[in-house]
Amino acid sequence: MPIDDHVYVGASRKHKVKTYGTLVPSYITLHYTMGGTVSSSVTHLNKKGYGYNVIIDRNGDICQTAPFNRIVRHAGASNWRGWNNLNSFSIGICFANYGPCYLKNGVYKNAYGSTMDADDVVAGDHYNGKGEYQGIYWERFTDEQLQSALDVTEAVVQSYQIRDVVRHDDVSIARKVDTGPALDLAPFHDLIDDRSGEKIYKFKVVVAAGDTLSLRKSYSGTSPRIGSFNNGQEVYVHSYAYRKYNKKWIRSKWCAVSRNGFDRVGFVSSSYLQPVGNFV
Ligand SMILES: [Zn+2]
Repeated sequence: MPIDDHVYVGASRKHKVKTYGTLVPSYITLHYTMGGTVSSSVTHLNKKGYGYNVIIDRNGDICQTAPFNRIVRHAGASNWRGWNNLNSFSIGICFANYGPCYLKNGVYKNAYGSTMDADDVVAGDHYNGKGEYQGIYWERFTDEQLQSALDVTEAVVQSYQIRDVVRHDDVSIARKVDTGPALDLAPFHDLIDDRSGEKIYKFKVVVAAGDTLSLRKSYSGTSPRIGSFNNGQEVYVHSYAYRKYNKKWIRSKWCAVSRNGFDRVGFVSSSYLQPVGNFV
């Protein structure tokens, strides 16, 4: 289905969120609401001045809460491939979904304490590796939701110069865990013709002769060591994790990296990385 005047033609427009200027989108950032109905989530978002361009309900209904050419506040402190602030260059698409769920006394509960049907949760370790999000459960995204999200993504990709689709927890590491492991990102990536432009933020490992750089499961020096890099090896930095400093989120030295530009393998300390090229 096409996009007309920056709105998906099949979408309802019954809810609106605050917008903050003109957006020329280069990315799509995926989120979940961590909530129940779309209308309750929009009420909460509007109180805070936050929003998404599109929210997709569990039954697959597509709610366009802001046109695709308007900036909304969905990503907060965020970075990707060397750029900061995804709000200013990405469209926010959000799923109605509770996110993390927990098995207590044989019953699945979401973070608000409501009971979840066993069919509606999946087990999963969060890929950012933090202990409290390992070995837990996540609300399953419905088939209708996934189909609608893919339909919207396909239409957006056809109408704008979109480089890639990312998840909030890819770009706001240590701050956010949406969308988490219940979402398969591969079908979204398949909608992008050429992702090779994502390989621009490349670094070289620089350690003392005979030393190696540890690859960690998560964004800390105490996190399990899951591999290593030799001096001179090349890595692609996807995103820097955040840490709190004077009540503000700042970039830490820990960054998520891959060997091939796409498939993330873990975290390294950027203190031992030297840029390759100019990143223009
Ligand atoms: Zn989010």
